[in-house]
Amino acid sequence: MTDDKNHMGTFIKAVAFAAEKHRNQRRKDAEASPYINHPIALADVLANEGGVVDPTVLCAAILHDTIEDTETTEDELRDAFGPEVTSIVLEVTDDKSLEKQVRKQLQVEHAPHLSPEAKLVKLADKICILRDILASPPADWPAQRKREYFDWAGRVIEGVRGVHPGLESIFDGLQRRSRELH
Ligand code: ZN
Repeated sequence: MTDDKNHMGTFIKAVAFAAEKHRNQRRKDAEASPYINHPIALADVLANEGGVVDPTVLCAAILHDTIEDTETTEDELRDAFGPEVTSIVLEVTDDKSLEKQVRKQLQVEHAPHLSPEAKLVKLADKICILRDILASPPADWPAQRKREYFDWAGRVIEGVRGVHPGLESIFDGLQRRSRELH
């Protein structure tokens, strides 16, 4: 975002863009929270728990699910937010034409090769999802499915280790809490 010094303005633009794109979506928790709570939580974790100040990373966090989960296109993101934010979002976007199990395996395999910026977004994403599962799990998830999710998330995060030890230890704390519950 080197050509745009109005970082706060760009960040708010990303929040407004994501809120509009996700406006009809709900999370899978029992209360069906508004979807936008999730990307906002990622940016909150990065900025306020991780001390991450890079506006490119914070915008990518806000936008990280727009291509995967809404009709947003790569061109649309590039026009609005530039190539750097767009490439981070693409790095953390799953190919939905693939089977779910294949996508999950690819996340594990791709994690070590992500850029540092995409690793931060990935790490914050998994922290937020694990917190959601611990606090308010999807109504139809038995304990076994939660366990499998935590195990898989752990394998993905193995691939990003070293990018931010502070956030990694927050992730590890959530893994420990889940084991105490089981
Ligand atoms: Zn996410």
